[in-house]
Parts: sequence; structure tokens; C-alpha cells
Amino acid sequence: MAKVKAIRGMNDILPSATPAWQYLERQVKSVLSSYGYDEIRMPIVEQTDLFKRSIGEVTDIVEKEMYTFEDRNGESLTLRPEGTAGCVRAGEEHGLLFNQTQRLWYQGPMFRYEKPQKGRYRQFHQIGVETFGMSSADIDAEVIMLSARLWKKLGILDAVSLQLNSLGSTDSRQKYKQDLVDYLTQYFDQLDEDSQRRLKSNPLRVLDSKSESTQAILADAPILSEYLDDDSKEHFSRLTGLLDDAGIHYEINTRLVRGLDYYCKTVFEWVTDKLGAQGTVCAGGRYDGLVQQLGGKATPGVGFAMGIERLVLLLETLGAVPDSEKNSFDLYVAAQSREVQGDVVQFSEALRDAIPGLRIRTHCAGLKNINNKARQTGARLILLIQKSDAGLVGVLWTGADSSEQIPLEELPVVVAQQWEVIKKS
Ligand code: ATP
Ligand code: MG
Repeated sequence: MAKVKAIRGMNDILPSATPAWQYLERQVKSVLSSYGYDEIRMPIVEQTDLFKRSIGEVTDIVEKEMYTFEDRNGESLTLRPEGTAGCVRAGEEHGLLFNQTQRLWYQGPMFRYEKPQKGRYRQFHQIGVETFGMSSADIDAEVIMLSARLWKKLGILDAVSLQLNSLGSTDSRQKYKQDLVDYLTQYFDQLDEDSQRRLKSNPLRVLDSKSESTQAILADAPILSEYLDDDSKEHFSRLTGLLDDAGIHYEINTRLVRGLDYYCKTVFEWVTDKLGAQGTVCAGGRYDGLVQQLGGKATPGVGFAMGIERLVLLLETLGAVPDSEKNSFDLYVAAQSREVQGDVVQFSEALRDAIPGLRIRTHCAGLKNINNKARQTGARLILLIQKSDAGLVGVLWTGADSSEQIPLEELPVVVAQQWEVIKKS
């Protein structure tokens, strides 16, 4: 019988890969906590309407990427394609948004029906940040500084660059949209097919067309920044001033519009040239109209989401995951003969009590060639327990083989000392 396989674009993350994921997640959490952000956990499934109303009917996501299905009671449900909508829904539903400030983060799988390729999957994972109730550019600067701090901590700051733009207010964008449509309509026949379609449904998206001929036409198109209202201009200059003072480099990309309808004022992307076509590792911006659009009271918001798969790929490409992260245990304990196997299991427990934080894996399989097997685990410490005339003893390897027999009672202290030495090296 044919074996059942995973769904295309939905990947298993195998034990060989999870250490890099865990390392990344740990660094992100530590940076987020240093800025005082709170975690929120939302369901993976929401009512389809939530995404239609927030992301926008004429976006790629809603038009062709959502996993939508009917519940047994006929309700239309959707696997979340992103986290912002659900976060706003949850915040509204539980009274977290009105008249207060929030700094929230979440993580988990997102689902989009896209063409699977390197860095683009149908189930992928994001860590997202959403802040509410703050309208000044200080918070836009903070979320960007937070992401920059993370890249620095991960040792990948040199491999990413920041693209920045302002979309202005909805009103100022309206005027721009009209002028852009008028300009592009003159060249309609020369536009690529996608852009021809978008010209009618979502003209701003034409700006990030990948087609060279369309890009050539865009070279002389009206520029969004020239349409900005005074408030948006001031907001943008405060933001760039704060980033300048913090020494964060950015490039102003007037074509950066982002795919989702709900952005206003600030939009940004962190991009890398190390991953080929799927180069955006983190993207976000301001969405002051979203809460109201979903039925709440007007509440400003700023956030971003990073793509975990792409960041893990980048870490691996750059060799930025420390070796010490790659093994899930530090000490491998094994019996030298069957008669002491039970003692080894018990002694491992005693070691866990004595040395908190030391990751111990106990050998529980056959003992043939045990010395080689223990070495092949790659553990930085190996402890072999055997019986001697004076009772149970252990032989501790810290790199090279050793044959010095250490009485069991002395081992917790000796192992702890050796572990301290290794940690410092
Ligand atoms: P792209 O232009 O690459 O399709 P997007 O604008 O659709 O990205 P966002 O909705 O802004 O992406 O999501 C934020 C981040 O999540 C992206 O920058 C990327 O790192 C990651 N991401 C988005 N879609 C996918 C996917 N299908 N597979 C893997 N990662 C993804
Ligand atoms: Mg996309």
C-alpha cells in the first residue's frame, strides 16, 4: 500500500533542524522581554470574514492564498494566513485595546496556498509583534530598533538591510492612486498581466511588480512621497531622525508598498541578498485604521512579522548557529556492562539533582561497542560507569579518552567542575 505523505509545502521540522529553530526563538524571546513585550496566543482558525475585512478583498492573500473551508455547521472558516487580524480581533474581544497601550507578540504557523519553493511554503511560521495605542513615531522606531537588536544578537546584522517608506494617510494615498492609475493607463498594453489586473483592483501593488518592463514604465511614474500629507511627513522625519541617532542604516524605497491594505504611514522590510528571490525576512508597518475597520474604536497600531523559515535558512547559510546549540545534551552517561545499567539510570537522576542545567542523556540500548557509540554522540562530556572491587566507579571523558576511575560519590563534584571548564572554553 502506498504510504501517506505530508502535504506539499507543509514541512516536517526534523530533530536535525530544531536546534536552530529553538536557538532563534530563544534569542527573539530574550530581546522581546528586554523591551517589556507580552505574549498573546490566538487560535489558528478564525472566521473567514475577519481576514476579508482586515487584509482586504483585493490582495493576493484573500484572492488566491487562503485555506478556507466550511465547518460542519456551514460556517466559513480560514486557517490564519497572518497574525495581525487575529491579534486585533482578540484584543478587541477582551478589551485590551481601547484607551490603553499594549506591546504584544505571538508565534506560530501561518497558512497560504502559494507555489512552494525555497523560503516560500504553504505552512510557514512567524513571530509577530503588534503594538497598540501609540501614535507617535517613537514606537515605529522602537519596533525597528528591537528588530535591529535581534539581528545584532544573532550575528546577522551585516547580512540584512532595512528598506523604509511612508504610505501617508488613506486620504493622501487616494489622490496618489488616481494619478498613478492615470499614468499607467497610458502604457496599459506594455504592463505585465498581473499589473494589468492590479491596475484595476489594487493599483499600488503595481509598484512592487517583479516585471522588468513594468519597472521601466514605473521609472517615470508619480512618486508617493510627493503626495504625503503634513502629518505623515512629520511622522516620517521623526522616525528617520530617531533611526539616524541610533545608528540604524536604512534605504528609503519609494516603491515599497507592502501587500496588505491596512498599512498607513510607516512601512518597512528587512531584506537579505543571501537567500535568492525570497529575500524579505521581516516586514511590517503602521496600521492606524485597522482596529476601527474591524469594528473597534480608532486605535493606532504598529507591528511586524518575521519569517522563521527564512531566518533559519539565513542563520544556516551564514553558519551563525553556535556549535554548542547543535547537540541536545552535554553529558552522555552509559554503563560498561549490563549488570550496572539500572544503577546508571538511577545515577543519572542523582546527577540531574546535583547539577541543574546540565543536559544529560542516558544510554538505554545495547552495550556492544559502547565506547565508540558514546563518542559518536558528539557529547562534550562522556561518563562510563563500571563495577570495580571498591564498588561503582565512573570514567569521565572530556575530549580525550581517560581511564581514571572516580568513585561514584565524588562524581557529581568532578562532573560539575569539568562542565564549568567546558562552558568557559
Ligand atoms: P512575500 O512578498 O515574500 O510574499 P509577504 O509580503 O507576503 O512576503 P508578509 O505577509 O509581510 O509577507 O509576512 C511577513 C514575513 O513572513 C515575510 O517577510 C516572510 O519572511 C514570511 N513569509 C510570508 N509568506 C511566506 C511563505 N509563504 N513562506 C515562508 N515565509 C513567508
Ligand atoms: Mg506573499
